[in-house]
This record gives sequence, structure tokens and C-alpha cells, in this order.
Amino acid sequence: MNEEYQDIFTTTTCPTQQQLLDYVQGRLTGEALHEVELHLADCEMCSEAVEGLSAFEQKEQIPVWLRQMKLQMLRNLRTGKRRKHQITYFTQLGIIVIVILFILLAAFWTYHFISNK
Ligand SMILES: [Zn+2]
Repeated sequence: MNEEYQDIFTTTTCPTQQQLLDYVQGRLTGEALHEVELHLADCEMCSEAVEGLSAFEQKEQIPVWLRQMKLQMLRNLRTGKRRKHQITYFTQLGIIVIVILFILLAAFWTYHFISNK
């Protein structure tokens, strides 16, 4: 956009994103606050940005939500590990069963050969 054109409508220059964020979080005081407020009355773009930012800021639960996600992920990881342990447990059980069957088969064959003699 043409800068001169923008100057007709805005008496002050656009604050930085950090300034807008500080404004939304109520961290601006005195002149800085006044300046931003004055600018917001003029600049549709910035007031929209502040609207968006305040909507985001209202969600104070965002860190909680993130923590819950993290916990859920960790829980999934833990159950995944447990599942892996179960798999190894069943493989071990399977190997033991196969070994027992093999021993029984061997015993049966040796018995069979002995009785046949
Ligand atoms: Zn602006």
C-alpha cells in the first residue's frame, strides 16, 4: 500500500507486534498505552490484530491444554511401551511352549524307538 495514502488515515505509525501484544496483555502504561489506544482508533488493521490477539489471550488455558497434550502423549508412549513388553512376554511364552512341545515330541520319539526294539 502507498505510504502517503496510509498517512491520511492514520495519525500515528503502527505499533510493533510486541507493542500490540503488550497492550493486549495490559502491560502498557501511561503514554505508551495512550499512543496505542489512539492508534487503534485510527487503524483498522491494528484494531483487528488486537482483537485477534485478545481472543487468543483470553484462552489462558492454552498452556494447560498444551500440558494435557504432553501428558496424553506421554501416556500413549507408556502404554505403547507396555504393549511392547506384552509382545516380548508372549514371544517368550511362545518359545517356552514350542520348547516344551519339542521336548515332549523328542520324549515320544525316544519312547517309540525304545518300545519298538
Ligand atoms: Zn496500525
